[in-house]
Amino acid sequence: MVTGERIAEILEGYDDLVMATVCSHSSLQIFHGARQEGFRTLGIAIGQQPKFYDAFPRARPDDFLIVDAYEDLPRHAEELVDMGAVAVPHGSFVEYLGAKAFVDLEVPTFGNRRVIGWESDRDKQRYWLSQAGVDMPAKIDNPDAIDHPVFVKYYGAKGGRGAFIAKNYDDFLEHVDKSQPYIIQEYVVGTRYYLHFFYSPLGKEGYRLSKGTLEVLGVDRRDESNIDEMYKLGSQEGLKKLGVYPTFVVTGNIPVVLRESLLPKAMEMGEKVVEASLDLFGGMIGPFCLETIVTDQLQFKVFEISSRIVAGTNLFVAGSPYSELVEPGMSTGRRIARELRRAEETGTLLKVVS
Ligand code: ATP
Repeated sequence: MVTGERIAEILEGYDDLVMATVCSHSSLQIFHGARQEGFRTLGIAIGQQPKFYDAFPRARPDDFLIVDAYEDLPRHAEELVDMGAVAVPHGSFVEYLGAKAFVDLEVPTFGNRRVIGWESDRDKQRYWLSQAGVDMPAKIDNPDAIDHPVFVKYYGAKGGRGAFIAKNYDDFLEHVDKSQPYIIQEYVVGTRYYLHFFYSPLGKEGYRLSKGTLEVLGVDRRDESNIDEMYKLGSQEGLKKLGVYPTFVVTGNIPVVLRESLLPKAMEMGEKVVEASLDLFGGMIGPFCLETIVTDQLQFKVFEISSRIVAGTNLFVAGSPYSELVEPGMSTGRRIARELRRAEETGTLLKVVS
């Protein structure tokens, strides 16, 4: 992992920060938000300049860095530093580059890169969430013992790819790919809510934590193919006989609001997860998402945490029913830029960049 001293040294040589990210996932929102806060922007793309930004002039990066493959990015670190880049991680950025290469990247990065090790290993993630005291789906250690529906998933942010439901041991054996690390969770029946938070170690007003403040900037639900539409063809059991199995590949996002009485619980969960992160590894800085299922007993079960901007926030480029109550027109991308700007102005960049 790059040391804090090295990052401090690099930042000392910066005049104007440039917000840089990989051209995918939530990049439109990040570039748009950066511009709103007066930053220059840099898009990192593979092979050639992506044409689709021409369709969105207000979110088009000012410059592009074209690389042959994501794995080559570490070799471009010096170039990025010469441009004054601060890398803004998102799910695809970290997944394409790989967690290890990302934490080793010698470019200042928004947020605390130590979080990656805690998020990408599902056992460590579980330890963190249980230390925080939030409810999670039960973990099943022994596949032989599957006697009720379970959910099997692999490590990393795969947008649901490869995950499957098993109702017994035979189902499990039929679908599992044992060459990759996986976990088995109780399948929770309920409604899914993906809660978008922003933790600011610099914040002084609002929902206060032991250090800094917490905001909720939006809530979405993911559209997942083919599970969300397969009911139209009949029962899953019947479809299995035809060789059609449920899959959970994220294809889009739908805006939702929580029933208001769930909001205090949501804030408490966000608070506990941040407080635990402060104790365990110095804090999860900036945007994060609690991926939850609410049961008919109105209990949240957190099945995953994403410790950076999630694609569901793309719904709220012009603000959400929650962010509007904090500041009009505040997207998560813009909120990241705002935090960087505040840190720059108060000489506290090392609190939000690592
Ligand atoms: P991400 O890109 O968010 O990291 P992923 O590939 O890690 O996605 P998950 O987000 O953990 O996968 O799960 C994908 C989907 O599977 C969820 O959106 C949800 O529909 C379903 N799911 C996950 N865990 C459970 C569970 N314990 N019970 C019921 N459904 C679940």
